Amino acid sequence: MPLTDPFLAMIVSEGDDGRFLRAVENKPLADLPPGDVLIKTAYSSLNYKDALSATGNRGVTRRYPHTPGIDAAGTVAESTHESLKPGEAVLVTGYDLGMNTAGGYGQYIRVPAQWVIKLPATLSLRQSMALGTAGFTAGLCVHQLLAHGLVPEQGAVLVTGASGGVGSLATAILAHLGFSVTAVSGKAEKSAFLEQIGAREIISREAARDSSGRPMLKARWAGVVDTVGGEILATAIKATRPGGVITCCGLVASPDLPITVFPFILRGVMLIGIDSAECARPLRQTVWDKLAQKWCPPGLDAMTSEVGLADLDPYIDRILKGGITGRIVVAIPE
Ligand code: NDP
Repeated sequence: MPLTDPFLAMIVSEGDDGRFLRAVENKPLADLPPGDVLIKTAYSSLNYKDALSATGNRGVTRRYPHTPGIDAAGTVAESTHESLKPGEAVLVTGYDLGMNTAGGYGQYIRVPAQWVIKLPATLSLRQSMALGTAGFTAGLCVHQLLAHGLVPEQGAVLVTGASGGVGSLATAILAHLGFSVTAVSGKAEKSAFLEQIGAREIISREAARDSSGRPMLKARWAGVVDTVGGEILATAIKATRPGGVITCCGLVASPDLPITVFPFILRGVMLIGIDSAECARPLRQTVWDKLAQKWCPPGLDAMTSEVGLADLDPYIDRILKGGITGRIVVAIPE
């Protein structure tokens, strides 16, 4: 496969006035960092973290100019690693991709072989990015719920930020596995979407946020997948049943957690942190294998929209305002 050099990539740069500008421009292959594997990217996806990187958030990306994209799927173009051969279909999510390593919003990435997962046989490149970091994170949350003994007979599972990337995939996977999902969403107009992907009940953000100051609430949830943090996570913990499991992965509402120890010491509830970026490789492979088969939600294609790299700009601003429903796959020009 002949290499395209220079290649097209989104480049985010800092202007003289401190504002961050985004443009799809040519970039030489020599600008990519050293690494074992050069991958020709076919698809990436849009995650909340990508929007932070694309708007100059130094907590995510320290140095600009930079190409975001924490997810990439494509084919191996060059490899010095014996188990990865040119032409093989692969995917990369997390690690430093799209943070301080040039990411999937470009026609090529160059990464360590350790970051690369072979594309599961049952997924297309596009489907692997419909899942992407959001699906992998939802998968890690489901893995933890199941590993801590949750079964559908124990009762309802609460999913917060339910119309977003991680939330919608967690809802869809849990419903597919037979769980009764209660979805928290700020988008009343997206009820039909949430029901379609499997939510049994939908509650508003206001109803999911208790401001009474009580340390514990009536026990309702057998499990929780939280993507928003803050008072909604605190309320969910206070309302989790004895022995219930809560996974915590996000902070779109707040990084704070205003809570006492009472739910932990009086009900034995378990709060599990999720870090998809640095997840160890054996668990990473296990979760991708499950996502590619038993856990793959049947409605995955229907909950995914496709946007070309050149048209991605407005979606970056929209995801920061919580305005995205489902998943956005980014098609990279050939
Ligand atoms: P999305 O923007 O796709 O989804 C977030 C959803 O949260 C929104 O769609 C919205 O859903 C809800 N929401 C937005 N703002 C608020 C608010 N102020 N209060 C309450 N709910 C809100 O983002 P992602 O799914 O990509 O990511 C979700 C979170 O998870 C982010 O914080 C992200 O950084 C984190 N994350 C963490 C990972 C990890 O490994 N720890 C990996 C992936 C993501 P609705 O309108 O339905 O309420």
